[in-house]
Formats: sequence, C-alpha cells, structure tokens
Amino acid sequence: MPGNLFALFQSRFPADRSRPFIIVPDAVTYSYADLEARSAQFAHVLVASGVTPGDRVAVQVEKSPEAIFVYMACLRTGAVLLPLNTAYQPEELEFFLSDAAPAAVICQPARAAQLQAIVDKTGIKARLLTLGADNSGTLVDEAAGQSTDFTTIERTGGEVASILYSSGTTGRPKGAMMSHDNLAANAQTLHKLWGWQPDDVLLHALPIFHTHGLFVATNCVLLNGSPMIFCAKFDAEQVLDLLPQASVFMGVPTFYTRLLTSPRLNPDTCRTMRLFISGSAPLLSETFNDFAARTGHTILERYGMTEGGMFTSNPLVGARKAGTVGPALPDMQVRITDEAGNTLPQGEVGGIEVKGPNVFIGYWNMPEKTKAEFTADGFFKTGDVGVIDSDGYVAIVGRAKDLIISGGYNVYPKEVEDAIDRMDGVVESAVIGMPHPDFGEAGLAVIVAEKGRDLSAGAMLADLKGRLANYKVPKQMVFVTELPRNAMGKVQKNVLRESYAEMWK
Ligand code: ATP
Ligand code: MG
Repeated sequence: MPGNLFALFQSRFPADRSRPFIIVPDAVTYSYADLEARSAQFAHVLVASGVTPGDRVAVQVEKSPEAIFVYMACLRTGAVLLPLNTAYQPEELEFFLSDAAPAAVICQPARAAQLQAIVDKTGIKARLLTLGADNSGTLVDEAAGQSTDFTTIERTGGEVASILYSSGTTGRPKGAMMSHDNLAANAQTLHKLWGWQPDDVLLHALPIFHTHGLFVATNCVLLNGSPMIFCAKFDAEQVLDLLPQASVFMGVPTFYTRLLTSPRLNPDTCRTMRLFISGSAPLLSETFNDFAARTGHTILERYGMTEGGMFTSNPLVGARKAGTVGPALPDMQVRITDEAGNTLPQGEVGGIEVKGPNVFIGYWNMPEKTKAEFTADGFFKTGDVGVIDSDGYVAIVGRAKDLIISGGYNVYPKEVEDAIDRMDGVVESAVIGMPHPDFGEAGLAVIVAEKGRDLSAGAMLADLKGRLANYKVPKQMVFVTELPRNAMGKVQKNVLRESYAEMWK
C-alpha cells in the first residue's frame, strides 16, 4: 500500500486525465487533470506559508470543489487536514484552534477578521488564508502563480492524515486522528463491497466537514477515478433534478424523509440509480419501506463513526434488513460486550466494540481518553449499544450515554421510541432520561405529532402500558413541532435534556 493516501488515489485516476472529477451543476466541471494541477498549486501555497509535514491545517470553509483540492493539497504536503464545521462560532473555534495549534488556518473571506482575532488571541503561530465558495480568496490568488506540478511528500502509512472532530452529539467534540492507512483501508473496503463501477456517478449532497461526505463519499469516488456531481447543500428538489444523471447517492436519514415528501420521487426519477446508501443516524423502518415502495430501491444502511469511518454495512448482494446496519465489514471484527468487558453471546444487547485497519490511532491531545476507550486486546469501545442477530447483522439499540436507568432497570430509549412511533398520528419521537425524585431517572417522551393531529398523552401512555413493561413506559409525554437535529440529521438528545432539565425538579 503506498504510504501517502494521495499516491494511492493517483494510482487509480483515469488514464485519460481529462475525464471529469467534480461536476458543479449549472457551473463548472473539474477534470482529474484539474485536480492534480489545483492541488499542486495549493500545496505550493501551503509550503510557502510555512506548513511542514505533520503540521495541522485547519479548514473552515463553505463546501466547494476547491475545499476538496485543499484536502488533496494537505495529503500531498504531508500536512494534517483539520476540517471544521461551518456552524462553529468564535468561542468554539477558539477551543479547536488552541487545541490543534495549526500552522495554517483557511477560512471564508467574510470571516477573515474574526478568525485572525482568534488566532492572535490563542497565540498560535498560524498563517491565515481565505477561500470563498466562489473560488475567491487569498489561497486562490496566491495559487495562481504557482507551478501545477508538486512532488507528493512520502509518508509512512501510520502517519496522521487528518484530525476529524466528532459531531459533538454527546458532549464536546473529540479530535480523531486518522492515518493514511486508516483512510486507505476503509476506502478500499467500501469501494469493493459496494461494487463501484467504472461508469458510476455519485450525487454528493452531504457536508464535507464530516466523515460521511468527506471520507466515505469522496474517497470512494477518488479510488474509482469517476465523477461526482457536487451540490453545495442538500435540496430535495435539486437532488430529484439530478438523480437521472447519477448512479450512487449517499444520504443521512433526513435526506430520505425529505425526498419522500416530494411527489417527484418515483421509479422514473431513479431510473439510472444503482445504489442508495444511508448512515450517520438511524434510518426508520418506515422510511426504508416507504422508499422501497415508491422507487423500487432498497436503501443500503451502514454504520460507522468519526473514529474510523465505517464498521458495518448491509450487503450489496443479499438481504438488506430494515432496522439493521448489516454485518461487520470483511476486514473488521465487531463484538458485543457487557459492562465488565465480557463478550456476550449472539442475541444479547451490550456495548459495541470494533477492531480493524481503519480504526483511528487515538484522540488528539487526549492520551488518557484514548487509553480508556481501547480494550487490552485492541478493540475500540464505540459507546454504542447493539445486538447481533443469527446472520451476523448488527442492530443499533442506541448510545450507552442515552441509556435510562429507571428504578434500577435498564431502559433502551430506541425500544420505547419504536413503540411510540408505531402509534397512530405520531411522526417521530425521542425518549430521554431525566433525573426523577422517585426513580433516580425516568423517561420523558418528546413527540412530534402529524400536522393537525391533537394527540392525548394520557391515552397514549395507557396504550403503551399494555405493550411495554411498566418500568419502560415514560413518565410523561410532551409534544413539539420538530426534534432538534444537527447537520448530519442526528437528534440532539443533549439539547433536549437541557430544555427539560427543570421538568421534575
Ligand atoms: P460525539 O462522539 O461527539 O458525541 P457523534 O458520535 O454523533 O458525536 P459521529 O462520529 O459523527 O459523532 O457519529 C457517530 C455516531 O453516529 C455513532 O457512534 C452512532 O451512534 C451514530 N450512527 C452512525 N451511523 C448510524 C446508523 N446507521 N444507525 C444508527 N446510528 C448511527
Ligand atoms: Mg461519537
């Protein structure tokens, strides 16, 4: 395996480099030759800015093809790419920049003054460059005069290629160090497993500051040497316009629920499609079934996280089971353990632990946390709770942190949510554990009702009591118009817990 991930990608680029790499609808198309030339020019600017191998390059920019060329330039210079969510505000950025101490910071032109102030305040020695979504900014200006050739720096596969921060669903985001080998291994496995074809076209509507859009989607395309249609953001109608030019689509579950609200989603719109993939958050069985009924396509759900990319996937050929994330990837081991770390027999619910060539090196600047999250035999404790069926398919039951211990009994919110979601008039629900004077902790159900429906908490609770053991039934129900979600469609239970903190006090 070539040490530098860029060298691996380059070995798979089409022989005819004029073939398209990124197609921006109604705008520009960049070829693989452009990718090589632009990433070389950006690499020269980084080097001239003082970036040396191993240095971090923090990037907080809007989604654009140039942002992908920055990713490639970081690989080529041996720098460590540090993508940052565009939603992060100054206080959060101050933490990330002082934590990672990057040698260069690339931000949107409009935020240059703000970012420079943060750089000055933290005292890090970072050069500030700007990059706008419209191909403007100092990075682009300085790149214009640079050579379009750059000799990619050699790296050993174990060296860090990226520090990617987790989504912050359960607390402050953690920086996961991914090596060149980690990224190469997962990309190669997924490329093979999902049967990428030379003429595949990916429709890319995900953000690129997260593992899903950045590594899973883009790295598969780069290994395949084929094009992706690049949407600045997800817009259901635009996706429906573009689907007939694509063959592969990757989305978070909310993309699929939004597509389903359009009457234009039908077999004809999907006529060129080969594969729909979902991940980053649980896909409801209802969405899975409705999508199949409307399009004839069975969504392939997979599971993974920032700390390693993908771990399990439903198969390309064979049964894709609703409510499961499929078996372990061929080069991964997945096991379920109890709190003491003993491996549980098949069918029992417990913590999901994983081991494989893509599992990250460790958390940046958090050696103690890294140590605590790995077992003595090298498995990573994902913090997710799940169960494996007799065919080896994993089902995610929830996150350990969301587990409710009510009156001494373990309650898995997902089981309760599933029961509520099946009730007439319910769109979706989130069950959270809240401190309770009698039970220590008890479940509170936050429910989204169908438009115009007036649901009765009393009747619903009575109904649930007939279907679930009493200790699992939430103590109270509240109705809201929507659940708080982040950019990846994840329900932010920490936000809900904060909102209702005073409930039973
Ligand atoms: P943080 O670790 O900062 O709290 P996060 O875990 O949400 O945030 P990510 O790494 O973006 O950050 O998300 C990984 C998590 O997403 C997994 O641990 C899992 O809980 C969830 N997830 C990913 N894919 C699926 C899926 N198909 N079904 C259910 N949950 C999923
Ligand atoms: Mg996590």
